[in-house]
Amino acid sequence: MTTAASNRVKVRIRCRRCGEKFILRGRRDKGRIDTGFRQCLCDNTEDFEIDEHWE
Ligand SMILES: [Zn+2]
Repeated sequence: MTTAASNRVKVRIRCRRCGEKFILRGRRDKGRIDTGFRQCLCDNTEDFEIDEHWE
């Protein structure tokens, strides 16, 4: 186990087109969040509502 600082984040993404929700774990990397998320099931790639929850 590590006691590393809060560079891990839980990201909740909601698609504004179809309403699908995703919960992902990401890392902060040089000012941006890297979750690996690419697109929604409906092919939406940019119209999302994103909540970040730092741990
Ligand atoms: Zn969608």
